Amino acid sequence: MTTLMNRSLAQADPEIAAVIADEERRLAYNLEMIASENFVSEAILEAMGSVLTNKYAEGYPGKRYYGGCEVVDVAEDLARNRARQIFGCEHVNVQPHSGSQANMAVYLAALNYGDTILGMNLAHGGHLTHGHPLNFSGRSYKIVPYGVTKDAETIDYDEIERLAHEHKPKLVLCGASAYSRIIDFERIGKIARDVGAYSMADVAHIAGLVAVGLHPSPIPHMDFVTTTTHKTLRGPRAGMIMCREQFAKDVDRAVFPTVQGGPLMHIVAAKAVCFKEALEPGFKEYQQQVISNARVLAEELSAAGFRIISGGTDNHVMLVDVFVKGLTGAQAEKALERAGVTVNKNAIPFDTQPPMKASGVRIGSPALTTRGMKEPEMKVIAGWISEALADPESESVRKSVRERVKALCERFPIYEARLVRSLAQTS
Ligand SMILES: *Cc1c(COP(=O)(O)O)cnc(C)c1O
Repeated sequence: MTTLMNRSLAQADPEIAAVIADEERRLAYNLEMIASENFVSEAILEAMGSVLTNKYAEGYPGKRYYGGCEVVDVAEDLARNRARQIFGCEHVNVQPHSGSQANMAVYLAALNYGDTILGMNLAHGGHLTHGHPLNFSGRSYKIVPYGVTKDAETIDYDEIERLAHEHKPKLVLCGASAYSRIIDFERIGKIARDVGAYSMADVAHIAGLVAVGLHPSPIPHMDFVTTTTHKTLRGPRAGMIMCREQFAKDVDRAVFPTVQGGPLMHIVAAKAVCFKEALEPGFKEYQQQVISNARVLAEELSAAGFRIISGGTDNHVMLVDVFVKGLTGAQAEKALERAGVTVNKNAIPFDTQPPMKASGVRIGSPALTTRGMKEPEMKVIAGWISEALADPESESVRKSVRERVKALCERFPIYEARLVRSLAQTS
């Protein structure tokens, strides 16, 4: 007998089943080049879709406010131990629901409302939670922004030092959403110590590279390190905080009960799976390929006449100035989307265009690399991007690129079994 409890999704809710099938198709046949996105493994999807979603587990392993937590405690301990093994941190909290909530918890642990934060200018690559006026960070704290230099377009460490001495911030913040160069955590940590400030790195974007040593680790130099787990780290959509032992209690209290209630134990378990994958040799190979792919993309786009901010990339992301070709970022994003290439418009440092238009697009290699694409595919894709943007209004160019994108995607399948299954159900 079918009841409310034992139907398949297709039986229970055909509309949502169709949404999922449509999204599986969109992923399968488009080139996902949004730098903050990636595709999780089947194992991680399985953990996320598990019965652990049912459990209330407020508190921490061994010290919960609910009974019946002995099983989920094992999952959270596995996640914490693996995170410590990967990053070499003293303390870790794996409960933040997102990168934003991880950042909020650190601010609440370390600061009082109205304190001063020295953080990277959002218009130069920083993140909303680093002080946007509409974000809780900008509304709760006094924000002093630093940026990149006008010529090299790399972080202006001398400016950080000068502003730190001038404003005496309580927290010096680094980390970015659109910055393609190595960040000198050692220097920023030293600047913070010199003025008696706490230091924090938000490695949301580069965590996967840090995990395997392909970007220098912030852990030895920073009091607090936050991250998402779903970008280059390729885990479930969530956040995490690492810190020195001396801040452990404050951070744990800030996550629960200050910012959050019950943790998402299915997501915590999926983080444990993600960290296990990150400890396997294939993960380092993956991250190496992410970097090589980004480098080739940047070189090819540059050769095609686009301007890469700072002249190139050391990581998984690049900011591409499309205004040099007479297009706004918004126009480029639209034209590429119609051709099957998904990117996002992005302001470039010292942008002359308003934010909703912008002069650039942000492009990343993590998701395509997860599909198995390598340098030859990057060269081809850079050519298509260039072709689509040379004539953004042309229907024949759009169609021709779109067809080639689809054919390439078919050679590098993603979630193939799911796609086949849902196509069968919805046809
Ligand atoms: C993506 C990102 C975040 C926020 O992550 P959410 O999970 O979307 O809240 C925070 N900081 C930086 C630098 C990011 O790039």
